[in-house]
Amino acid sequence: MTAQVIDGRKIAAALREVVAEERDTTRACGGRFGLTTISIGENAAASAYLRRIERTAEQLRVPHRSVRLDGSSPAEEVLAAIRELNGDESVSGILVLRPLPSHLDEAKVFAALDPVKDVEAVHPENAGLLALGTPRYIPSTAAAVYHVLDSWLADMGEEPSAFYRGSRIVVVGRSNNVGKPAVSLAYAKQSAVTSVDEWASVGGRLGAHTRRGDVLIVAAGVPGLIRAEHVRAGAVVIDVGINIVEGEGGTPCIVGDVALEEVVGRARAITPVPGGVGPVTDVWLIRNTVLAARYAMGAR
Ligand code: NAD
Repeated sequence: MTAQVIDGRKIAAALREVVAEERDTTRACGGRFGLTTISIGENAAASAYLRRIERTAEQLRVPHRSVRLDGSSPAEEVLAAIRELNGDESVSGILVLRPLPSHLDEAKVFAALDPVKDVEAVHPENAGLLALGTPRYIPSTAAAVYHVLDSWLADMGEEPSAFYRGSRIVVVGRSNNVGKPAVSLAYAKQSAVTSVDEWASVGGRLGAHTRRGDVLIVAAGVPGLIRAEHVRAGAVVIDVGINIVEGEGGTPCIVGDVALEEVVGRARAITPVPGGVGPVTDVWLIRNTVLAARYAMGAR
């Protein structure tokens, strides 16, 4: 079997058209949208993500502003920056880029966000709504995973609810921003669900879990973690990992968490890195920024 390699860029391009329409309707109704990202300190992965956000916001003509704080900024300075953006009507969405410097308490920073502007659903109110199956926002990466799956199912002519109800979804990685939201969305699809983290690997049980997946979603941040032996024949594999590694001649390159060249011979379909989930994630973030403007209008 040779897996179909799913073209995330094509799916993202189609989604951009949908979001452009949502943007125009929102503007026509008097909605004000704008995304502000807050970066604290320097991090190569966060900088790469920021560049992608800038590009996508520009393509979609949604204003984006970047607030950069020093890596040693005290918590009070970070919270003050968030409070200012909470009160700024030109800002519909706020994204605090991770990872935060170790002296900052992530939970306190996220809890300071106005929940209506928290487009990545990291505020406890939004995370709770998502866990209850009634999300205000679907966080962009998890949303992108299922949007890619849904688009692929449509291409295959498969009926989504029958597919999801009949499938076991295995999610590798259990972070608050990717793994757990992906699990919550799998519950909402009424799939059988397995969630594993690094302790499955430490205990030598990773393959025993992942081989049960009809759909395998991998968000661990470990290059090449998933090899052919971890994958059920005919599974659909969604690689969320974005890892910067040293390529040939020492040049940095981006790879996923799945050894694509091996797994392609075993899976039914697979997303590549780059060009898989990432481009769709970027568009979804802007979609949430437009949605935030609608919520703000509703509140007014
Ligand atoms: P994280 O470090 O916060 O969480 C990683 C999770 O993976 C943890 O639950 C950890 O226990 C688990 N894990 C680590 N090593 C493991 C192993 N050997 N076996 C099984 N589980 C293991 O990371 P995150 O923020 O969730 O991001 C995960 C990956 O997804 C990273 O590569 C990140 O760059 C990428 N990412 C991609 C997008 C996108 O748009 N495609 C968006 C966000 C994050």
